[in-house]
Amino acid sequence: AASVEAERKILDDIEEQFHLDEDALIEITKQFLEDFRTGLAEYNHPMAMIPTFVTGVPDGTETGTFLALDLGGTNLRVCEVTLLGNHEFSMKQQKYRVSEALKTGEASVLFDYLADSVDAFLTEHSSVGSPLSPTHDIANPFDPVSTPAVPLGLTFSFPVEQTALNQGRILTWTKGFAAKNAVGHDVVRLLQDAFDRKHLHVRCVALVNDTVGTLLSRAYSAGSCLLGSIFGTGTNGAFVEKVENVTKLGDSPARKNGGLMVINTEWGAFNNTRTKLPTTPFDNKLDRQSINPRFQAFEKFISGMYLGEITRNILLALVDAAPRPLLFNGKASSVLNTHYGIDTAIMSEVEDAWESGREAEIKAHGQPDWQNAHWTDVEALIPSDLARLERIRGILVQRLLLDPEDVSLRDAATVRWAASLVANRAARLSGTAVAAVLVQTGHAKLGGGTPEPEKNIIIGVDGSLIQHYPNFQTRLRASLRVLVGEAVEKRVEIDLAKDGSGAGAALCALQAVKQG
Ligand code: ADP
Repeated sequence: AASVEAERKILDDIEEQFHLDEDALIEITKQFLEDFRTGLAEYNHPMAMIPTFVTGVPDGTETGTFLALDLGGTNLRVCEVTLLGNHEFSMKQQKYRVSEALKTGEASVLFDYLADSVDAFLTEHSSVGSPLSPTHDIANPFDPVSTPAVPLGLTFSFPVEQTALNQGRILTWTKGFAAKNAVGHDVVRLLQDAFDRKHLHVRCVALVNDTVGTLLSRAYSAGSCLLGSIFGTGTNGAFVEKVENVTKLGDSPARKNGGLMVINTEWGAFNNTRTKLPTTPFDNKLDRQSINPRFQAFEKFISGMYLGEITRNILLALVDAAPRPLLFNGKASSVLNTHYGIDTAIMSEVEDAWESGREAEIKAHGQPDWQNAHWTDVEALIPSDLARLERIRGILVQRLLLDPEDVSLRDAATVRWAASLVANRAARLSGTAVAAVLVQTGHAKLGGGTPEPEKNIIIGVDGSLIQHYPNFQTRLRASLRVLVGEAVEKRVEIDLAKDGSGAGAALCALQAVKQG
């Protein structure tokens, strides 16, 4: 009995480390707001609060055909987007793989590859190609004499210091990219030079962060939008701010005109200075072994690239637990021993196997007794829960390449528990970022007390995590309710932005041509 108690204590301690109570959430959001404000006042703050020079969001009546190029995730994408002017668009697209060698080699080779991909797309898929299709209703502002070049919006989902809609210096790489001779250079120039080297009749007119694209795309579909945010390989958000609040723009013309400007927060870098987030040894191990230690600290708690790895770190600690292993008979598989061996999608599968149908069953039959027991008491489970654990066991054997002999039902319960700890913390922290934007823009007060707004507050989201991870939005909303009160939370409309990075980049190219 003493050893059972000791084992429970190990697990309870881990659970405690991942716990975020209401006070902690409020404190984190306060820090977020302080960082937002400092980032709007100063350059070179970790919370970059990048002015995007996008001064309006679409309302869904816009028309035209544009190219979009999307670099920043797992794939490179080229799209041709036709805005139909009725909140809808049509699109052709092609994905191209970005190899590790391209990600970490010379920048010129990477950008040549981008240009080649656009060339291949125009040859194989495009109707605009060259000369421009007659449906194109935007005059080329750069070269009115010759055949206008096809305007392209570049979605570039890395930190950039933007100085104009079509100009921005790369600040740093994230998400596994590390191409040489790129940081410090204007990314639009790097791309345009590659187009020019290949004599492509394409002009990059807008540099768009994927969050900005998400915001514009949701605004086009919904008629308005306050925040665009990504929960995929990485996490970030962009929102519509009053230009007068962007004090670091000083007396520049962009600020003198007043009005609104989209701000790319780069919130993935929140907590780089390590003050507020409850960091566990599993997080520290991940950070230390990452290619960017101490950077993108918030992102490392939240996004798809990292959740599987945090979970792997927990599982390994339990495999190695002393005096007795707490998982898999103390044996780790090749997958478990591989850095980034557990994809977040596997956690998703495990949680889904546990959750699916469970809520309905609990509604129909009441809480099973074991809810009051410790979660490790597998013996107390009801039969349908045992069937769920059996399914999880199958997933673990298959995905982690474990010997079935080494995976007990209790192991299945333990892995499910670990995944839910990591994912729940991620979703609750995501809620602090959303709450900070609501408070910053005057839509809510921290701690609640704001009356129910008249109109819904529109938030556009994108990314596999929020799209596919079971209960991610439910968990995020629970945190949001704590932070801004139910009256506001229930009027927050969180919807998928239809292809933010493609349509969004096209909308930004349109905005560039409009803003001239
Ligand atoms: P990106 O952000 O690169 O454009 P995605 O939005 O598809 O692309 O995010 C990819 C990330 O999402 C990867 O880190 C992957 O681990 C994670 N992921 C993929 N499928 C799922 C899933 N079903 N559930 C949760 N996370 C997933």
